[in-house]
Amino acid sequence: MKMFCPECGSTDKEMVGDVCIDCFLKEFQMLELPKRIEVQICSHCNSKLEEGKWSDEFIPEEEIIFRALERNVEVADEVTDENVSLEIKQIKGTIATCGVEIVGKVHGTEIEESHETEVKILKTVCPTCSKVQSGYYESVIQFRADKREIKSEEYDKADEIVERTLIKQSKKDKLAYCPQIARLKEGRDYYIGSLKSGKKVAEALTEEFGGVIKESPRLISEDKSTGKGLYRIWISVRIPEFEVGDFVKYEEKIMKVTSIGKSSVVGEDISTNKKHNIPMKNMEDIELVKRSSEVETTTIISKSPSIIQILDPSDYSAVDLEMKEEFTDYNIGDEIKLIKIDNYIYLID
Ligand SMILES: [Zn+2]
Ligand SMILES: [Zn+2]
Repeated sequence: MKMFCPECGSTDKEMVGDVCIDCFLKEFQMLELPKRIEVQICSHCNSKLEEGKWSDEFIPEEEIIFRALERNVEVADEVTDENVSLEIKQIKGTIATCGVEIVGKVHGTEIEESHETEVKILKTVCPTCSKVQSGYYESVIQFRADKREIKSEEYDKADEIVERTLIKQSKKDKLAYCPQIARLKEGRDYYIGSLKSGKKVAEALTEEFGGVIKESPRLISEDKSTGKGLYRIWISVRIPEFEVGDFVKYEEKIMKVTSIGKSSVVGEDISTNKKHNIPMKNMEDIELVKRSSEVETTTIISKSPSIIQILDPSDYSAVDLEMKEEFTDYNIGDEIKLIKIDNYIYLID
């Protein structure tokens, strides 16, 4: 339909709305592009902020620039059959000069446009890295021993386990780090960036030392907008008082501890030599009766098929004990080990 154009006065051109196509195209832009585009990259971990989200997948710098251009190019609705090409003309420092060309049809007329813009890469710190920098932590592992002090070799081992676990966790958890270790008289407090990694550390410690884990959340602040509480979790790891080789009493049996694991303690009944598995969760009911260092040595003074006679090392009196199979090969004059528990002498093989 040909009509009169109020802009240029022509009467023989195709009309677009109120004006002719030529007048329309004079004002029309196929493509909108900001003069300057900013991309935020974390200078610590290389994460990028894209559409409000930080992502840490590895993307080369050029790809980051192209993606930023793509996100910012806006093609007008009237354009059809368009072909947009992006080009990085030059990168100087943190600024990339880029060209965007478009070829497309507008109301049947093919047109071309070239645009230029700058993509600036802003080096910043992502929220996770800023947490790390500020010493943020979600959990505290309280490493303690039940009714005794922790030995220095146990501290060394614990430090090593914490470090090893965090290295392993850091592949998938950026907050797998320990900003602080508090060395206290009663034990060590390991501050751990995330709760998830804190739990892994606690588990790894009980795998080595046995013991029981108890979590207690403490409210540290409240999110005003959601009313949700922010908690920090204290995880106590209490390792047993007894160690391998010590003598314990459990369910009226005297046992020598032969191994300590994450979920159970194995003890050998010193009267029957039978092995028993005690669940670690019953740690409170396992009573330490003698340390391995309290084992004494004495001499066999006589023996018969049913009796073995030894000297009581405390007063050198002769004591008759029941002969057991494992002692039949011992001879008079041999040394033999014993442990005294509740005024009773147990011979130990
Ligand atoms: Zn016109
Ligand atoms: Zn970062």
